[in-house]
Amino acid sequence: MNSFIPYGRQNISQEDIDAVVEVLRSDWITQGPAIERFEKIVSDYCGAKYAVAVSSATAGLHIACLAAGLSQGDILWTSPNTFVASANCGLYCGATVDFVDIDPNTYNLSVDQLEGKLIEAEKQGCLPKVVIPVHFAGQSCEMAKIAALSERYGFRIIEDAAHGIGGYYQRKPVGSCQFSDMAVFSFHPVKIITTGEGGMILTNKEELYEKLIRLRTHGITRKVELMKEESHGPWYYQQLELGFHYRMTDIQAALGASQIQRLDEFVKQRRFLAERYHQLLQGLPLMLPWQHPDTESSWHLYVIRLKLDKIKKTHRQVFEELRQAKIGVNLHYIPVHTQPYYQELGFKWGDFYEAEQYYQEAISIPLYYGLTENNQDFVANKIATLLK
Ligand SMILES: *Cc1c(COP(=O)(O)O)cnc(C)c1O
Repeated sequence: MNSFIPYGRQNISQEDIDAVVEVLRSDWITQGPAIERFEKIVSDYCGAKYAVAVSSATAGLHIACLAAGLSQGDILWTSPNTFVASANCGLYCGATVDFVDIDPNTYNLSVDQLEGKLIEAEKQGCLPKVVIPVHFAGQSCEMAKIAALSERYGFRIIEDAAHGIGGYYQRKPVGSCQFSDMAVFSFHPVKIITTGEGGMILTNKEELYEKLIRLRTHGITRKVELMKEESHGPWYYQQLELGFHYRMTDIQAALGASQIQRLDEFVKQRRFLAERYHQLLQGLPLMLPWQHPDTESSWHLYVIRLKLDKIKKTHRQVFEELRQAKIGVNLHYIPVHTQPYYQELGFKWGDFYEAEQYYQEAISIPLYYGLTENNQDFVANKIATLLK
């Protein structure tokens, strides 16, 4: 009972190990057939036309922004309740970044706030070129409404779906891109499925796909029909723009293709454990995660929110006492605009009230496929005792 319980962790099976070993013994450990195979499995799973595997979701967000045409002088909006990568990708492109405050129930970017901010921005002539909704904790944003606003105000939508694979919105898989230009998954080990490091961009648009493929590999093409002058011979390739080296290896892709076989099982177990937490924690001075009826979460995170006026301890005390009990709680997220780097860009505490309020009260408690019911009971009992 006394070993450390992390807030999240990967689950690696013998099949996963065998799949990786098979690639290691093959002719190709990178730039071989495993990448396309993995891309096809993910695009089929999501019901999107195209998929582009990349070295991380951060790399994916970067080239997705470039493919959307984001550059110097443009504006990108995202949620303050996210990992810094969702905002940094705009800065990589030389764009200006701003935030849209969160909904106090879902902790996702608030569509009402988005609409209000768009009305204001239109008056001032500073509409965003790209909006990045983040599917926080695995619960999809209200994509139909965001898509309707994008029609009206002309911005591109890139979903930060780092938490989202295996979740659903209006009965379609997250990543279908029904209401967006692109969606980006992360396969970091704390996420739903893993490739070690890795990510993937989904899209239904061929021109975005072609651009993403090039940007992933230095801006280079081998397609004769895209070349600016006649091919010099079979060795020839052309660099058409400034791209990057953001490729995934075949070793990683083999792991991902094996992991995704268990995706539904992973999400099912996470949902089972989440519902179990709802039971175990109900009645305590906490807000439990609220779910929008249009969504089925992948349950990347289980976040409780302390009702501080109903308990005698501070947020920090509860957090520290859980850590002392070897429960690996975490906090998702420190509002991005309060990071010193973003404060230097002009943001300050007080800019996004709901995200900051949430930050004062939120704690992510352990939730992952391999979490045992015994350990979950231990976590829930500890929380109940601490809040007495
Ligand atoms: C993990 C994460 C990322 C970055 O993913 P990497 O694969 O580590 O680059 C981006 N956005 C969110 C919301 C994340 O949780």
